[in-house]
Amino acid sequence: MKVLIVGGGMVGLAFAMALRHVSASTEVTVLEARVPPSGTPSPLDSRASALNLVSRDILSVWGVWPAIIEQAGVIQQIHVSNQHRFGSSVLEPSDVGSDDGSLGFVIENHYLGRALLSRAQELGVVLAAPVDVRAVQRGDLSPGVVLASGETLSADLVVIADGSQSSLRQQLGIPIDTRSPGQRAVVANVLFDAEQRGIAWERFTPHGPLALLPLPGGSGSKGSRFNVVWSMPKDAALALEATDAPHFCEALQDAVGWRLGKVLDVGTRTGWTLDRVLAQEQSRPGFLLAGNAAHGLHPVAGQGLNLSLRDAWQLATSWGATTTQAEPDFIAAMINRFVGAVREDQDRTVSATDMLSTLFAQRGLLLDLPRDLALAGLDTMSPLRRYIARRGTGVGSQLRAGRQSS
Ligand SMILES: Cc1cc2nc3c(=O)[nH]c(=O)nc-3n(C[C@H](O)[C@H](O)[C@H](O)COP(=O)(O)OP(=O)(O)OC[C@H]3O[C@@H](n4cnc5c(N)ncnc54)[C@H](O)[C@@H]3O)c2cc1C
Repeated sequence: MKVLIVGGGMVGLAFAMALRHVSASTEVTVLEARVPPSGTPSPLDSRASALNLVSRDILSVWGVWPAIIEQAGVIQQIHVSNQHRFGSSVLEPSDVGSDDGSLGFVIENHYLGRALLSRAQELGVVLAAPVDVRAVQRGDLSPGVVLASGETLSADLVVIADGSQSSLRQQLGIPIDTRSPGQRAVVANVLFDAEQRGIAWERFTPHGPLALLPLPGGSGSKGSRFNVVWSMPKDAALALEATDAPHFCEALQDAVGWRLGKVLDVGTRTGWTLDRVLAQEQSRPGFLLAGNAAHGLHPVAGQGLNLSLRDAWQLATSWGATTTQAEPDFIAAMINRFVGAVREDQDRTVSATDMLSTLFAQRGLLLDLPRDLALAGLDTMSPLRRYIARRGTGVGSQLRAGRQSS
């Protein structure tokens, strides 16, 4: 079998690795438009992702986790609060029955991307970069792609992981559902002067939700590093992105207060539109969408990559299960199995993320009261708090339960 994966982002690499992990005889080639970045960005200029406990388990099985554990920040507590309002809540590992004192992890994307690539190559995945894929090849021919050079490559399966603006998805005639809350996220790493203590902060400000993820290292006299994702209406975000470092620190200090001490410094600010782009179908004969090409989510709940890692795990499971049953049209049967297996998880994750982004997008009298009550209620209503924490961390999910018993 031959598989081509278009897009060597974190998801394309995860799908490639999952396939080689389950089937060493399958040839897997990743076609990526950009040369993989080398070197290490400065500590205040990196991007980071929050990974939940299921993602940690999946990365452990693939052999990626040992390469990144040293660089991962551990989330030991999640503190949720509302600026200028009374509601607040603390989620702890005991709320989810986590056995190792963690609710999740924060890892800088350059470490994770490099570890995924290196493990994928160890497993025999071929990376072709820079290679610009221009078109899909369909019809009576085997599935394939046409490169900018004019060369055509064919395969048994083509996985399209070229991001949320996927042009190949459009060529496959797969419709999308776009939701535009008119928001943008300002993302940056910041340095506070207080000790970090492994707490992730989610704070709802008059502009929109502000997440502070604890980054590893940099505690003590050098202060503590946090990755900030601050979602807000587009115009406010563009203004904040353009402001200089001292004014950004001032605005952040005002929004966060002094629990983390003084904001000492900030790295480069980047801006991200927060449109949710959802493919209405996930496959065509011989083609499968993956990652942001299939579901580009609002980052408010930090679920996009976590969901895609579970998808990649399911692809490997579907591939393995289909082989053992020796079905005649292997790829078609495998795609059906995969799409059926991921549907419920994807639907639930998309609805939960949509609900959160709507609820927390804007402040107003009508929204504030239920939100405050919900936050205040979280501390008193333990079962609800436990439920939310279990969904967010993945504890108790079928996948995790399956892994623990295997
Ligand atoms: C601000 C922000 C914070 C986030 N935080 C979290 C978090 O904490 N936790 C979490 O789980 N998720 C988070 N996410 C979501 C997560 O980052 C995405 O789900 C994930 O990065 C998607 O990866 P991808 O590989 O599908 O797409 P991309 O990262 O967009 O990669 C697509 C790749 O395809 C390549 N490509 C595109 N076109 C072509 C072509 N024609 N030919 C060849 N190659 C091509 C591109 O060069 C690129 O490398 C966050 C997202 C944002 C915006």
